[in-house]
Amino acid sequence: MKRSINASTSNSGDGKDMDSTTSEFARMNSEHSASTDKLLHELQVHQIELEMQNEELLRVNAALEESQRRYLDLYEFASVGYITLTQTALISEISLNGATLLGSERQKLQRCAFAEFVSPPERDSWRRLFLDVLQNGGKRSFELTLQRRDGSKIAVRLNCMRMEQDQEILGLRVGMIDITDLADLRRVVADTKVAAIVFESQQAMMITDNKSIILRVNSAFTKITGYAENEAIGKPVALLKSGYHDVEFYANMWKDIDSKGSWQGEIWNRRKSGDIYPALVTITAVKSNDGTVTHYVGTNIDITERKEAEARIENLAFYDPLTGLPNRRLLLDRLQQALSSSDRSGRIGALMFIDLDEFKVINDTLGHDFGDQLLKSVAERLSDCVREGDTVARLSGDEFVVILENLSESEHESATDAKRIGEKILSSLGQSYHLDGYTRHASASIGVALFSGHKSIIKDLLKRADLAMYEAKASGRNALRFFDPEMQAIVLARAEMENSLRMGILKNEFVLYFQPQISGNTHLIGSEALVRWNHPSLGLILPHDFIPLAEQTGLILPLGLWILQAACAQLTTWALSTKTASLSMAVNVSARQFYQPNFVNQVMAVLESSGANPSKLKLELTEGVMLTNVEETISKMQILQELGVRFSLDDFGIGYSSLSFLKRLPLNQLKIDRSFVRNVLTDPDDSAIAKMVINLARELNLEIIAEGVETEAQRNFLAQCGCFDYQGFLFAPALPSVEFAQMTSRI
Ligand code: C2E
Ligand code: MG
Ligand code: MG
Repeated sequence: MKRSINASTSNSGDGKDMDSTTSEFARMNSEHSASTDKLLHELQVHQIELEMQNEELLRVNAALEESQRRYLDLYEFASVGYITLTQTALISEISLNGATLLGSERQKLQRCAFAEFVSPPERDSWRRLFLDVLQNGGKRSFELTLQRRDGSKIAVRLNCMRMEQDQEILGLRVGMIDITDLADLRRVVADTKVAAIVFESQQAMMITDNKSIILRVNSAFTKITGYAENEAIGKPVALLKSGYHDVEFYANMWKDIDSKGSWQGEIWNRRKSGDIYPALVTITAVKSNDGTVTHYVGTNIDITERKEAEARIENLAFYDPLTGLPNRRLLLDRLQQALSSSDRSGRIGALMFIDLDEFKVINDTLGHDFGDQLLKSVAERLSDCVREGDTVARLSGDEFVVILENLSESEHESATDAKRIGEKILSSLGQSYHLDGYTRHASASIGVALFSGHKSIIKDLLKRADLAMYEAKASGRNALRFFDPEMQAIVLARAEMENSLRMGILKNEFVLYFQPQISGNTHLIGSEALVRWNHPSLGLILPHDFIPLAEQTGLILPLGLWILQAACAQLTTWALSTKTASLSMAVNVSARQFYQPNFVNQVMAVLESSGANPSKLKLELTEGVMLTNVEETISKMQILQELGVRFSLDDFGIGYSSLSFLKRLPLNQLKIDRSFVRNVLTDPDDSAIAKMVINLARELNLEIIAEGVETEAQRNFLAQCGCFDYQGFLFAPALPSVEFAQMTSRI
């Protein structure tokens, strides 16, 4: 405000009528008084100006204070929290709100590391950001999760700026805004997106109200059920009901949903097309805060394929894939059931073991495809021979089993029934098979064991039927045999024999005999080593009584090795004398022995350790050996042949070898089986076979020897046919080595 200045003036008059001094004084006085006034006036003016300036200063000061207060309020209470950080990221200053955001009192925050408030997984990012702004300047915005000392978390956005003065870096100023709500919002949006994607998943989904009226479905629902969205919405869930489950099923399901909040299980549903399909269903109740159900969410997976796969797996586990018959596993199960049922009913049942005769030969000569087809036909014929409730199973290879249930209460009648059915089976399987353009005959051997309830044990039962089957085979095949207790005695004896065979090998109770092989009339060319068992109590046992058992039990492996060693040792001894040095040694080799993976090495090792001449060793194989695995046979023979070892085909004529097959084998000799030699003079068939074998050997450029020559007449006949090498009682039986040595010294 401007003040008006009223200058006060004094009017002193002119003063001409006074003396001059007086007037001068007066003049001077008057002049003086005029300048004082002026001065006074000026002073007054200055004072006024000063006052005005002072007022202005006060006013500005007040305004400044006001602005400072405003700034302070703003700094302290703004929704942004302000923090000043030192170069080492320690808090040097923080606004009140900043402290609130960090969840701590301001004074406790002084010199605290800011990183301490950053949630541990984000601390590294924070440190990188801090250093980046500190080193490179500029402004940076960044989102972080803070973790307060009480453990609570908030999401914040930090705006950071480097603080500097006179080119010196002081630290960072940080503005911090709480964006927790925003982060929550973002999460909700993301969750919603996820939920939407989940809803459109591969499984059918539907949302219903609490009255089970469909409100929403997804596209998989349409795909699986066939109902479009508009066809389903507004309809009750019962739309999918197949009618397959009863009221109780659904009642139980709802009971679960009510009590546990959800239910999962398999339901047969119906598609729009009317098809019924199995579905894995989950129903979950959605409840409001007060616990009342507002909606149900149902998911529905079509498990048709899974069910089919399960069925396939079950099929594989319990059924033979080739014939579709129950396999061993299911057979054992059925047998157990049959035993229980027989126990309850008191009726007797029968277990039949059926084994095809010569199946192996058919399989090997006509091929596995043919063999498979034959097995399928056999399976069909077997199923046709039995009643609906009876079981036909395939045990393995060409072994089948039939369970006949509920025959009769009388053992005699049951046996008669089983025999009748067994014979029907034999006759049916004996009919010719027309497969793949071939017509082939086959026969089977059947063993039968009767069972009645708890008295039978599955394992024993199977053994009995198996045993009876072997009896049928032994009796000449295409036959049926019942198990009888005598067989059991044989089995026991066999077990005992096996045991003493094992002991015999350990105790070295075996000896080799040597049967001379003669060329022409008297010329000794070698011998066949034939093993004997010098049993401590039973005396000398011939191979026929223990070799088959040794083969079945695998004991032929240690025994065969011993035989080979003993034979080679004998060759080494013979090599020392001129009379015997040229003799060869034929050693019989069993299939099992030959097919040991290390057979070739074993022979080599024995030859080496004994020092025997390999070209004097002749291994006798049978056709059965060679048919098993032709390629392996040939390669094993070839390796040994390169060392000089020779091969003879034993028992030739009784097997099934074809000419082309024989041609492939690197053989040196054929040995005519003694069964033909025996009757060469009396049986035209046998003499024809003997002749044919001799011719065949000539054709194939093989040596030929006849075994079992007992008479001059047989020898003459064979010589006429062109066979000049012989082995047989005509010359000598198999002899112990001492006797053999005596014989050679006589020649
Ligand atoms: P194989 O290899 O065919 O042996 C010939 C069999 O005929 C011998 O019976 C022999 O004693 C017999 N034999 C020889 N000459 C005559 C004869 O003029 N008339 C008659 N009726 N028989 C004669 P063995 O020694 O009882 O051997 C029987 C079978 O046992 C052998 O038949 C062979 O398959 C097997 N075997 C014998 N020793 C061994 C062996 O060391 N290892 C193996 N794996 N099997 C052997
Ligand atoms: Mg032999
Ligand atoms: Mg023989």
